[in-house]
Amino acid sequence: MRAGVYKGNSLIQTEEIPTPNPGPNQIVVRVKYSAICGSDVHGWQYDAVAPGHVLGHEFYGEIHSIGSNVSKWKIGDRVTGGGEPPPELDRNLVRGPRFNFRTQGMTRVEIKAYAEYMLMEEWAALEVPNAVSDEEASLAEPISIAVHAVRKSNLKLGDTVLIIGAGPIGLFCIQTAKAAGARNVIVSELNDSRRTAAKAVGADHLINPDSENLDDRLMELTEGKGADIVFECAAAKPTIDQALDSATRNGQVVLVAIPWTPVSIMPVNWQAREIELITVFGAKPIDWRIGLELIRIGKINVSPLINEASFIQLDNLQEAFKTLSDPSTTDQIQMIVKL
Ligand SMILES: [Zn+2]
Repeated sequence: MRAGVYKGNSLIQTEEIPTPNPGPNQIVVRVKYSAICGSDVHGWQYDAVAPGHVLGHEFYGEIHSIGSNVSKWKIGDRVTGGGEPPPELDRNLVRGPRFNFRTQGMTRVEIKAYAEYMLMEEWAALEVPNAVSDEEASLAEPISIAVHAVRKSNLKLGDTVLIIGAGPIGLFCIQTAKAAGARNVIVSELNDSRRTAAKAVGADHLINPDSENLDDRLMELTEGKGADIVFECAAAKPTIDQALDSATRNGQVVLVAIPWTPVSIMPVNWQAREIELITVFGAKPIDWRIGLELIRIGKINVSPLINEASFIQLDNLQEAFKTLSDPSTTDQIQMIVKL
């Protein structure tokens, strides 16, 4: 089968590698769409991926073959990730109490979804509802991240929410925060096409921090209070400090994006407001299921994130990673490999 193999030194090459066969409790999925995640781009950019690793964890596919003990699935079933692991395989236990995503996150060689076929344990797949399209299902993972972030936050019905950064995760945070009852969702984003998408998915107010002062605009929009909850979805140099400074007294900042470089903060500006900072990472199976359900009932709309140019070939993966490593160079919000 063909796969986009990480070779080291920020290089992905399309290669022919062996097509997997399922063991007794495994399935093989024919991957149809594999969306490119910011984390994969960071791993590539900072050369934190083991050579030989095939990245890709945002996918939709159909079951191609099943192992001899598999009774849950049949060939042709529509699946994505996010299945419920057996208790002994809890990811947090596997990853350990001192897990470091930068140095340990992508260092094991795995063959994932930038490939025509993917081997999975039978429990690891999740059925895609009929009303959810193939393309929508390929974004179930980033949607689950946003669901997880909102569910871990203190967000209450009627809250004012600031979302910094309107890439895919920020755009899904807008929609999940709204679904959870946020009243006033304010979005700060530099890129024009991302701001347009933010509007299209339901942002109440947009701020362009290039031409407007974020703090001044936020005070205008919140009667001088700031945001109850801030979702930091940008991971740009100044945005963590901006997020903390944007929270109201006893407000909360949820660090969703993952900065890979040191960032400076100025605690004296906001520390006296007793702000809570929490980090979130990944998602639980329940978050995946809620995400798929939100798509099904129309609370999440993926179409403002994608257009014809979003779909690329496996051979263009290296080029796409290069483009996405500097989002200011592109109007493309989401790229998806069509396999
Ligand atoms: Zn992802």
